[in-house]
Amino acid sequence: MHPSVQLYATHVNPAFVRLLGAFGYGRVFERARGMHLTDSEGRDYVDFLAAFGSANLGHNPQALKDAIVAFLGTDVPNLMHTGPQVGAAELARDLAAVAHPLTISMFSLSGGEAVEAGLKLARAATARPTLLYCKGGYHGTNLGSLSVMGQGRMRDPFEPLVPECRQIPFGDLKALEAALKAHKVAAFLVEPIQAEAGVVLPPKGYLADAQRLCTQHGALLVLDEVQTGMGRTGSLFAYEQEGFVPDVLVLGKALGGGLVPISATLTRTEVHERAYGSMERFDLHGSTYSGNALSCAVAREVLRLTSEEDLARRAKDHGDLLVRRLREVTAGHPLVRDVRGRGLLVALELGPTSQGILNRLLPGVVSQVSKRVFGQWLSVRLLERGIICQPASQQWNVLKLSPPLTAEVEDIEKVVGEIGDLLAEYRDVGKVLRDAGERLGAQVMSGWSFR
Ligand code: PMP
Repeated sequence: MHPSVQLYATHVNPAFVRLLGAFGYGRVFERARGMHLTDSEGRDYVDFLAAFGSANLGHNPQALKDAIVAFLGTDVPNLMHTGPQVGAAELARDLAAVAHPLTISMFSLSGGEAVEAGLKLARAATARPTLLYCKGGYHGTNLGSLSVMGQGRMRDPFEPLVPECRQIPFGDLKALEAALKAHKVAAFLVEPIQAEAGVVLPPKGYLADAQRLCTQHGALLVLDEVQTGMGRTGSLFAYEQEGFVPDVLVLGKALGGGLVPISATLTRTEVHERAYGSMERFDLHGSTYSGNALSCAVAREVLRLTSEEDLARRAKDHGDLLVRRLREVTAGHPLVRDVRGRGLLVALELGPTSQGILNRLLPGVVSQVSKRVFGQWLSVRLLERGIICQPASQQWNVLKLSPPLTAEVEDIEKVVGEIGDLLAEYRDVGKVLRDAGERLGAQVMSGWSFR
């Protein structure tokens, strides 16, 4: 066994290692470059996960490595608290240029922190308590962001959380309006597409109408583009396709190019002034490493490359291709319910369709099996064929495909081909179950080994 497996199990997360072994994911990845990863046995994989949509430029892109080396050669102070942080100012200017009129950026290190910065901003700016969020939503796992987590499994063990956080259904304007009328709402927090809930797209016009309703009722709309931002859905920010600009925009993941932890909470100057625009309040939000010069230099380069390489347009073209080809190879398959997505955020939803015999006989069993087993089984089988991808973290029957935006047509064809070949062999749940069962049995026999 690779020595880091035992180290990880002993010192970081024992249950995670057991789970990897049990499902058959057991591999240690040692190198990453562009679209490809290599494991400790020298096997090559094409990456359709991209670190949950962080490595939009591919892994360890040369231009970012050069930017980091160049930065380290300058000896500018990385952290600066007794004067303006120059790198942060420059990055905020570059972000303002592409997110007009969101002229102010507050920087954090993770997506969850940047969401919390947005929620705090809204409470401070409006002097109101209520935070609305959507069922199914995912915004991070800190106590604050957990309070607006639309997944009970993730949230429940940590109750009680921040008070006055209220859940409403995603995509439901009537529910939003009713909540805005019934409560003193500071913010409505929402994702343009619920990625972790299984790439759930809202009805057309929902977001722009939600923004209008929020404005009407004096609440701020906080748009969480941690996963959809930076070109992933076919425009730099997903909201650009919806014909509105949110009051608050949250970015993370790909902003750091998969190399440095940086996230941002953008808003209009007027909103920031209301929240923090006085001697008493200017320092109510911040953290030691926020806006550090190294991360800001990398993020500026990410923005530049995203534009120079036209990655949003590539995401659109290649995303359309991926959806079209997946629909072709899975058409009429009794275990494929849907192929959907926008740009290179694509979902293959697995589960019983009315056509399967087993489903007609035992619909409950089939539904449970497909929820718990099918997505993981498929992603392990794809791993064995040299493809990295995963089910949506909160909806295991949805296989999520979100490669680096640098993916080429051949990469897409490879993945489509492998998925098509694999699914062609397994046209009923019984066969999937047998294969999954045999694999699990082999793992039990070998003591849940991590191979
Ligand atoms: N918001 C969204 C939409 C996300 O997908 C995620 C991460 N999956 C987060 C927030 C949290 O980001 P982080 O893990 O960097 O805290």
